[in-house]
Amino acid sequence: MTAAQKFPTFDFRHQHLLGIEELSADEISLLLDRSDHYAEFNRTDVRAPQILKGRTVINLFFENSTRTRTSFELAAVRLGADVINMTVEHSSIKKGESLLDTALTLNAMHPNVLICRHPESGAVKLLSQKVRCVVMNGGDGAHEHPTQALLDAVTIRRRKGRLQGLIVAICGDVMHSRVARSNIYLLQTMGARVRVIGPPTLVPGTMEQLGVEVFHDMESGLKDVDIVMMLRLQLERMQGSYVPSEREYFRYFGLDKQKLSSAREDALIMHPGPMNRGVEIDSEVADDIGRSAIQEQVEMGVAVRMACLEVLTCNLPILETR
Ligand code: ASP
Repeated sequence: MTAAQKFPTFDFRHQHLLGIEELSADEISLLLDRSDHYAEFNRTDVRAPQILKGRTVINLFFENSTRTRTSFELAAVRLGADVINMTVEHSSIKKGESLLDTALTLNAMHPNVLICRHPESGAVKLLSQKVRCVVMNGGDGAHEHPTQALLDAVTIRRRKGRLQGLIVAICGDVMHSRVARSNIYLLQTMGARVRVIGPPTLVPGTMEQLGVEVFHDMESGLKDVDIVMMLRLQLERMQGSYVPSEREYFRYFGLDKQKLSSAREDALIMHPGPMNRGVEIDSEVADDIGRSAIQEQVEMGVAVRMACLEVLTCNLPILETR
């Protein structure tokens, strides 16, 4: 048996996972189906197949992360990979040159997969053009966070049984959110209706061109929605003042029981984390075990990253024999 035959192959035409925008509905469905498969493994004591045995995965994070870095690490370890974590102090980054230097250093180490988070939009794509391995985007600036949108989608699909036809409201700091962008691409590709709700200062004018409905008040925006997806105020990406005060922001845009009453009775509450309790979300709704899917999102994060590692590395033996 040749190396290529030992691995399953999937109908996925990308070498890297840089964004949801470039994925077709079939490719998204494939990743969601494989995520479901791994979610079941993760709930039992049965070890997942060691499909990454002998492979090296490097986590290269130029920005803070808790859930994404840990779950990529756990996902890679569960599939048998050797994992190295490299955290780069934000203050030591000089865009461009240092990123390309990093690529040269990484090439010399011969990793098989590189997972990268970077504060600049487009930086992960640039890196993917310079390194000789599979690259996955762990979040680049306000651009994309593809595995977050996939884990949100698998959480919704498991709870609601579908994505098609659902009404999803993405609320808050849409302007600075890579989570919002990746979710908009994914949900629309899969046939959901997307609304964004936020103050005019935090909703970019390009939203309507994406086919998204824009609302500037929670009551009308949340009417009849199936999913309420809250976003963190991304203070670290704001230059200048976008909201009068956190207290006032909570009053108008923070999700509490009262505002939630406009949504469907069975609407699901989501948040990618980290949460600013009392700023964009009230603890009473965040911790409502009947309606909040926030912990399940974290659980699905590991399964989704296992699925992405599997699907993207299945072509490695072929690529490496070229
Ligand atoms: N963890 C998500 C991200 O990295 C959301 C957030 O930070 O607010 O984009």
